[in-house]
Amino acid sequence: MASPAVTQAGKLLRALALRSRFLAAASQAVQLTSRRWLNLQEYQSKKLMSDNGVKVQRFFVADTANEALEAAKKLNAKEIVLKAQILAGGRGKGVFNSGLKGGVHLTKDPNVVGQLAKQMIGYNLATKQTPKEGVKVNKVMVAEALDISRETYLAILMDRSCNGPVLVGSPQGGVDIEEVAASNPELIFKEQIDIFEGIKDSQAQRMAENLGFVGPLKSQAADQITKLYNLFLKIDATQVEVNPFGETPEGQVVCFDAKINFDDNAEFRQKDIFAMDDKSENEPIENEAAKYDLKYIGLDGNIACFVNGAGLAMATCDIIFLNGGKPANFLDLGGGVKEAQVYQAFKLLTADPKVEAILVNIFGGIVNCAIIANGITKACRELELKVPLVVRLEGTFVRQESYMHIKQETENSKEHIAGIQENVTHQNLSKCAIGFVLCY
Ligand code: GDP
Ligand code: MN
Repeated sequence: MASPAVTQAGKLLRALALRSRFLAAASQAVQLTSRRWLNLQEYQSKKLMSDNGVKVQRFFVADTANEALEAAKKLNAKEIVLKAQILAGGRGKGVFNSGLKGGVHLTKDPNVVGQLAKQMIGYNLATKQTPKEGVKVNKVMVAEALDISRETYLAILMDRSCNGPVLVGSPQGGVDIEEVAASNPELIFKEQIDIFEGIKDSQAQRMAENLGFVGPLKSQAADQITKLYNLFLKIDATQVEVNPFGETPEGQVVCFDAKINFDDNAEFRQKDIFAMDDKSENEPIENEAAKYDLKYIGLDGNIACFVNGAGLAMATCDIIFLNGGKPANFLDLGGGVKEAQVYQAFKLLTADPKVEAILVNIFGGIVNCAIIANGITKACRELELKVPLVVRLEGTFVRQESYMHIKQETENSKEHIAGIQENVTHQNLSKCAIGFVLCY
């Protein structure tokens, strides 16, 4: 299973935005098992942060237990914090399939770092945000531990309802922010930022104060918030989340954790960052899909969905959920797709052994129905589909070529087809221009 792209602030806003139970269920399923955007590991995010004046702990990254031990010695710190590097949060309370409890450990003894790293690297870490079986840990971060006297929460994200960036903060950090939002919504503070004017000092100061920083810590926190916001803009992030955004007894404001999400559309001007993309947590099938410019999202049901556009994908998942089914995956074709991609898409969908049926739900626009129909018929011909295929095409060229193509093709290969049922009358497919089921 792939790793989650869920972050707390994102979930929080989504929870506020989504009204439909089914959409929420589908969205959650999608978020919990997929990774469609560039995500960086904590150590990569922290490097970006420290390069931009944001305060993080000194650290090394290790791929082996021995390297972790050496790093711990090299740090020469009073105390060391060892952190498993996976994209999911909640690592502190996670469990490894090696039996080790906790993806974040504090120790004063470098030798212990070596022993703990041995039980982390190569094992799966399961947290509240990962699939049940967890996510394999390939790297650990070995950092200088600092005492924390107070943990707050800070995130900066693009918020549709604010039409721009917003700061979200809470004096109650370190914990699950949704729980704070549910039990103490008055402890969640927001600060809308005008993207053209940038963050105002008064806004950073107000947030720092709302987070409970006082005296010299308040201006230090405001300075860190401003630097985080400037970084957010500079790197085209859609979200920067720091939990905990903490203070030390020595009077320092430090970002103890970091999660940054990026805007994929900015890849052309963020080449260095996108080059860091760690695809190791992707399902191989997602990487394969990306090669053909297709977006593949793995889910845990048995109905493969072949759609165009994320909105239609969500609606299709909703329809399946509403009717008691469960999507196995969905594959979003996107715009400007070519016949060959349609063929590849089918190849990918049918490679998943969980798939017991394929539902094609296409609204032809720029991607017209004829292209899809040609792709489908090629796939039917060459891939010898073993599972029923339900097709719904609507939109551009629906009557013109596509219908004839598919019909002709299916008639040509009658020996493979047990039955063709035209104009599927199922409630949710009733408006189909073309609806049919091919039973192989
Ligand atoms: P997460 O569980 O995946 O969100 O990982 P975090 O990086 O947030 O670590 C989990 C928790 O470990 C934090 O909320 C802190 O309470 C604690 N922690 C992390 N780093 C340090 C550190 O340097 N010093 C101390 N004292 N605690 C730390
Ligand atoms: Mn955290």
